[in-house]
Amino acid sequence: MPNIVVLGSGMAGFGAAYRLHAERITPVMYDKNSYHGGHTASFRSDTGFLFDVGPHISFTKDPRIQEIFADSVDQQYETIQINLNNYWRGYWPLHPVQVHLHGLPEDVIVKVIKDFVEESQGPEKPIKNYADWLVASLGRSFAELFPMQYTRKYHLTTAENMSTDWLGPRIYRPTLEEVLRGALSPSAPHVHYITHFRYPSNGGFMSYLKKFVPMGNLRLNHELVSIDPRARQLTFSNGHVTQYDGLVSSVALPDLIRMIHGAPPDVVEASRRLACSTCVLVNIGVNRQDLSRAHMTYFYDEDICFTRLGFPHMLSSSNSPSGTGSIQAEVYFSDKYKPFTGSPNDWIEPVITDLRRCGLLRDDDKILSRGAMLLRYANIIFDLERAAALKTVHGYLDDIGIAYCGRYGDWGYMWTDESFKSGELAAERALSAPVSSR
Ligand SMILES: Cc1cc2nc3c(=O)[nH]c(=O)nc-3n(C[C@H](O)[C@H](O)[C@H](O)COP(=O)(O)OP(=O)(O)OC[C@H]3O[C@@H](n4cnc5c(N)ncnc54)[C@H](O)[C@@H]3O)c2cc1C
Repeated sequence: MPNIVVLGSGMAGFGAAYRLHAERITPVMYDKNSYHGGHTASFRSDTGFLFDVGPHISFTKDPRIQEIFADSVDQQYETIQINLNNYWRGYWPLHPVQVHLHGLPEDVIVKVIKDFVEESQGPEKPIKNYADWLVASLGRSFAELFPMQYTRKYHLTTAENMSTDWLGPRIYRPTLEEVLRGALSPSAPHVHYITHFRYPSNGGFMSYLKKFVPMGNLRLNHELVSIDPRARQLTFSNGHVTQYDGLVSSVALPDLIRMIHGAPPDVVEASRRLACSTCVLVNIGVNRQDLSRAHMTYFYDEDICFTRLGFPHMLSSSNSPSGTGSIQAEVYFSDKYKPFTGSPNDWIEPVITDLRRCGLLRDDDKILSRGAMLLRYANIIFDLERAAALKTVHGYLDDIGIAYCGRYGDWGYMWTDESFKSGELAAERALSAPVSSR
């Protein structure tokens, strides 16, 4: 049996373990954390509020993954019709705003529709970046008032500095009829790419990993600090040293490259150009449930510190004590564009203040739980440097036989199902490496 080592115990690491399990191989899995799950871990506060590591829902359309996840929670999951909205200068339009202009100021609606029509009737222009795509698809006024502003808060850079290869169905490109209907009527049709989602009934999103945990020989509190690809040797910060025949890694690329003995300078330099956001998650428990009608709200205004809010108590009643509600706020930074300094706890009070300012928290609300955590790697930023830098980094890892996977190994905008499948594919690559090179 080849000795396959898996680095990381998130969705990608367990995708690899699942694939290897089918070959009757139990990999040794290392994780630096004292818990498994990575970005899909869930934690319950002393006061009984459960928070995932960022808002996590499963909206995969892949029936195989749906089945695997459902089996992992013994079919105990909720199926929920999604409800999303937005907050913009005191207005709460439904999502996506481009087909829900109803209720916004008249001048805004007129300008947005005028520009939309002008743009769709004008000559086709070359699309060099995300800003060009937004203007061509939605008209200049809408692009500047909404998605370009959101981009600065969520992606921490300008739309001009971003590519379009991450878009897929993420930003809806409406027809004129949809824009008009959404401006005239409060009940425009649902066009978002997610209509329903699933969420485990108990234990938070992390429960989806339950059946995979025994498929790996899991070693927690093992932080990898160096890789010698020639000797096929790994060294951990606690002094543990081990060999491998095949290596699957879901470690974030900039960290991974830094650890590799003899990584060429151009590869190290390329890995430094890869941009990702850092997220401070602020978790609040409140003494009432009717906090929001939406499962998630997007915030555009630059004077509101958070970019998105999620309401975990609306995903499963087991996420908060009876009669209470919960809010998870995301505040974004980026090493490359807006470095985070200080402590995550510094953001608890500003978040509470802004929740009050936009009316989600009332003066008489009792805060039953408050906490914050830092997600060092959150969302990959598709800036214009990404593609070339990634090609250099991935090319080198292919050459030295490290099978990268997951959101931070593939360095893509990947959801949990995609990270899981990426882990499966990486396991196959590790298995198919020629025996002589093992
Ligand atoms: C804010 C946010 C919201 C999201 N919402 C959704 C959603 O609603 N639905 C959805 O499907 N997806 C969502 N995602 C995406 C989802 O989280 C990822 O696709 C998936 O969790 C990535 O899994 P992974 O295994 O690739 O990475 P990770 O979960 O990050 O796993 C990597 C593991 O490697 C370990 N590791 C790192 N460095 C070392 C080291 N040096 N030594 C040892 N171990 C190490 C880490 O501790 C970690 O456990 C969201 C992501 C974020 C950031």
